[in-house]
Amino acid sequence: MNFDEPEHITMVRDTVRRFVEAEMPRELARKWDKENHFPRDVFAKLAGLGMMGLTVEEDYGGAGRDIPATMVVIEELARRSLAVAVPYIMSACYAGMNLQECASEEQKRDLLPRVAAGELLFAYGWTEPDVGADVASVKTTCVRDGDELVINGSKRFCSGAGICDYIYTLVRTGPADARYRNLSFVLIPPTAPGVSITPIDCMGMKGAPTTDVAFTDVRVPVANLMGGEAGWNRGWDYVVGSGLDVEKLEVAAIALGLASAAYDDAWEYVQERRQFGRIIAANQSIRHLLADMRTALHGCRLMMAHAAWLAQEGRPCRLETSMTKLHLCEMGKKIALDAQTIFGAYGYAKDFDVERYVRDSLLMPIIGGSAAIQRNNIVNWMGLPKG
Ligand SMILES: Cc1cc2nc3c(=O)[nH]c(=O)nc-3n(C[C@H](O)[C@H](O)[C@H](O)COP(=O)(O)OP(=O)(O)OC[C@H]3O[C@@H](n4cnc5c(N)ncnc54)[C@H](O)[C@@H]3O)c2cc1C
Repeated sequence: MNFDEPEHITMVRDTVRRFVEAEMPRELARKWDKENHFPRDVFAKLAGLGMMGLTVEEDYGGAGRDIPATMVVIEELARRSLAVAVPYIMSACYAGMNLQECASEEQKRDLLPRVAAGELLFAYGWTEPDVGADVASVKTTCVRDGDELVINGSKRFCSGAGICDYIYTLVRTGPADARYRNLSFVLIPPTAPGVSITPIDCMGMKGAPTTDVAFTDVRVPVANLMGGEAGWNRGWDYVVGSGLDVEKLEVAAIALGLASAAYDDAWEYVQERRQFGRIIAANQSIRHLLADMRTALHGCRLMMAHAAWLAQEGRPCRLETSMTKLHLCEMGKKIALDAQTIFGAYGYAKDFDVERYVRDSLLMPIIGGSAAIQRNNIVNWMGLPKG
């Protein structure tokens, strides 16, 4: 067993770290958070480093599918700002990974080079007002009319709808009682006539603003059906079969990045802040918190490395990716809150980044399959006898 980080992954990590220091200083990260702003110019520079191509095969202009490297990019970006980390996921993962796995050859030739160039962002339109964890119960309809698809319905918490090129929309393409067998994905431009977008004011994940999206008689070409003609009613296969394992890791990678940032800031702070004539690092309560944070981070890193490796190797990994998603998001939340404890009053003030890490960390166990859903799945896959 070899625990050394592969050289090419270390190179990716170092490259992104240098990029973050040069192009994403803390002051800008705070500004983007405050203004809920997506820095498209910074994103374009990141694309120039080839980072979006890490999910795209070389035949389509990418660097070759590399899940561990992709997770490292997400982690390193999330250490500084979700206003770049989330759009990175919208590009490399939502667009790149799904197109690579599910698109028709024509769609791949057309769209994947644009992903690799950083010119294509997908927003996920899965959740609806009445549809949360039970994603297979979507009500948004899609019917065929000649060479066009007509979409009616609404999506909720559709993050980045206002900055994306396509909303990757899960629609019902037949009677609801068929449940898993009548779902499809349609690529809907947010600018299409009949699409209206309303912001939802959330506490965190600024930069890829989350929204309500309404579709009223929206028409797109049949060519926008994910998978082409063969993609009709294949939506659930695409949900389960393609990016789901990796999607859990994407959220976990954000949690890991936030937790690392919270730990690093706390580490600096305990050596600077003085009370009772000595640095606060001299107090056992603080030292124990640091020990717990470091221990949790170490475990999180090992789980991520293992799960990402399994996914890269194409091995079964639904259990490991669910455990990783559950553990890293719960631990990430705890580490951010521990950092806030260490910062005391300053951890509650918006001038300090810890306040943002806490807001963002609280989201991670909610999205990408909640903690409760991961626990359900983990125990269901553990092989308990039925009766
Ligand atoms: C900031 C933000 C961004 C988001 N971005 C997107 C996005 O881009 N695209 C998108 O499609 N969605 C997005 N979401 C939606 C997110 O994925 C959903 O919140 C999530 O799917 C859970 O749905 P829900 O919150 O409606 O919870 P519900 O499904 O209503 O669940 C409520 C509670 O009950 C629990 N619960 C539900 N069912 C079970 C069960 N069977 N067993 C045990 N417990 C259960 C849940 O864990 C939760 O605690 C976003 C949400 C937020 C807040």
